[in-house]
Formats: sequence, C-alpha cells, structure tokens
Amino acid sequence: MSKNVLYVVVPCYNEEEVLKETTKRLKEKLKNLIKEKMISNKSKVMYVNDGSKDKTWKIIKEINNKDKMFTGISLSRNKGHQNALLAGLMTAKNYADVVISMDADLQDDINTIDEMIAKYNNGCDIVYGVRSSRKKDSWFKKTTAQGFYKFMRFMGVEVVYNHADYRLTSKRVLDAFEDYKEVNLFLRGMFPLVGFKSDVVYYERKERFAGESKYPLKKMLNFAWDGITSFSVRPIRLILNLGIIMFIVSLLVLIYSLVVKLLGRTVDGWTFIVCSIWLVSGVQMLSLGIIGEYIGKVYSETKRRPRYIVMENLNDED
Ligand code: UDP
Ligand code: MG
Repeated sequence: MSKNVLYVVVPCYNEEEVLKETTKRLKEKLKNLIKEKMISNKSKVMYVNDGSKDKTWKIIKEINNKDKMFTGISLSRNKGHQNALLAGLMTAKNYADVVISMDADLQDDINTIDEMIAKYNNGCDIVYGVRSSRKKDSWFKKTTAQGFYKFMRFMGVEVVYNHADYRLTSKRVLDAFEDYKEVNLFLRGMFPLVGFKSDVVYYERKERFAGESKYPLKKMLNFAWDGITSFSVRPIRLILNLGIIMFIVSLLVLIYSLVVKLLGRTVDGWTFIVCSIWLVSGVQMLSLGIIGEYIGKVYSETKRRPRYIVMENLNDED
C-alpha cells in the first residue's frame, strides 16, 4: 500500500523566478515522503511548460539533467492554465498511481501533501485542497473569489467551496477523466462529476514568494464565465422563466386595457398598440426560452460526457 508512485504536476507559465526555489522545496518534501515510505522512490515532479516566453523551459531541462526526480513536458504554445494542467495530468497518469496538481508559486501549502496521501491510502480517489482562510489575499481578491463560488452555486454548478486546482487524483479517476472530451475546461467543476470517493483537506493559502500573478482580472472573469457557461443551462432557464412571466403579464395587460377601453377612458388606437407590444414581446420571450431549451440540449450532447463510470466490477476480480 505504501509504495504509490506519486507525480506532482505543476503548470508553469513564465515562472523563471520561482522554479529554483519551488524545486528545492518540493525535493525536500518528496525525499521526506519517500523516507517515511509513504510514496515510492520512483515518484517525480512533472513541470508543464505552458509556452513560456522566458527561460522557464531551459531551467526545467537543467533541473531534469541534474536530478531525475524532476521531469517535464513542454506545450507547443501558451494554452492557458487549465489546458496545461490537463496535459500534465494525462501525461503523468501513464507513469503514476496517484497525481497531485499544484501551482508553481507554492501558494498552496505543500505540507498538506502528507494528509492527502493518507486520505488516498484510506480509500479516497479524489482529495480536494480547500483554503481555510484568505488572510493573505487582498480584500478585492477575497470578495470577488467568494462571490464567484456563491454565484457558481446559484447557477447550478457543483463546485467545492474555496477549492482551486490543488488536488490529489488517483490513476483510475484520471483514466475515467479521459472520457470528458469538452474543450472549454473548468477542471475544478469537472472532477465532482466523475464521482468516486472524495474528501477535502484544509490549508492556509500563502502569498506568492516571487514573480507576479499570471491571472489578471480579465483572465479571471473569462474563467468564471467559462465555468458557468460550460456547466449550467441555468441562464437559458432564466430566459424561459422570464418568458413565462412576460407572457402572463401580457395577458393581464390585455384584460386591463380592454377594461379601460370599455370604460371609455382611452384615446383611439391605444388599446391595440398596448396589447400588441405586450403580447408580441411575451410570445417572443417565451419562444426564445423554448428555443434555448433545445440549444441547451444540443450543447450538453455535443460535450459527449460519459453517461456513467463503473467504479468496481466484481466479475473482473474472480
Ligand atoms: N499558468 C499557466 N498558464 C497560463 C497562466 C498561468 O500554466 O497561461 C500557471 C502559472 O504558472 C501558475 C498557475 O498557472 O503555476 C497559477 O497561476 P498564478 O499563480 O499566476 O495564479 P493566481 O495564484 O494568482 O490565481
Ligand atoms: Mg498563484
């Protein structure tokens, strides 16, 4: 049980300032885990160079030359954090029993790895790292991030609160994950869909020790929007609900304007115009909502997500 090959997958975009220090700290961590027989001595750190424009890839190759505990893959161009992470996970699962993903800046506490491995040994297939507090984040980052999780929930997306992409996944989860063919990735929302036994571990999020955030506000907003639109047909449902309400209101307006007309308190043509505006827009909104429902169906079909994943098959074990 204690001989799991662990791969730590670390996406890197222009991270020349942090790589050396990150390598030093991860090396110490892995060495300790190997010494305590929690992981196999074949365990490695896999850096994913996400089309960096600085010396990141050169540094990764140097590190790999000096120490085979560190390895790397390089993408043909910058594809963004989520794609880089997926590339790393899918590559690493060919060599590993269990994979942990984390950022290059070590904002996520690497000492939590012990606890993650312990939970994995206890039968968990996914362990989510969850930030226990955001003391080190700016007020703005904290509020926007928390608002984001709440909004996601409201939109019907199953996300683990305050969990980013620091997570442990077993090989069999990643094998199942391969069947999720969607192109717009929002990994932290996709893993809960896979299922299997999961748990969370809590940690304090630290400050970036060097370099700058590669997630400016614009990227963050895009990411959040992607998260919602890739997971939820709620926005479409909202249109449909609006359409139903509009339609009901239009009927009420119809009655109202007829009453006013009969009481003789209108000018010529008023009734006709008011009724037309309300009825036509009510019908339009309702139709949009219905069309939207079908688009929603088309959209979930095109994602070709697996319809089920078999976790255990007793017949295989005989
Ligand atoms: N990253 C990446 N590709 C990108 C942007 C970022 O691989 O296009 C990596 C980056 O190198 C880091 C991780 O994604 O390892 C998270 O980025 P960052 O720490 O800048 O985000 P923040 O912690 O500020 O949200
Ligand atoms: Mg960071």
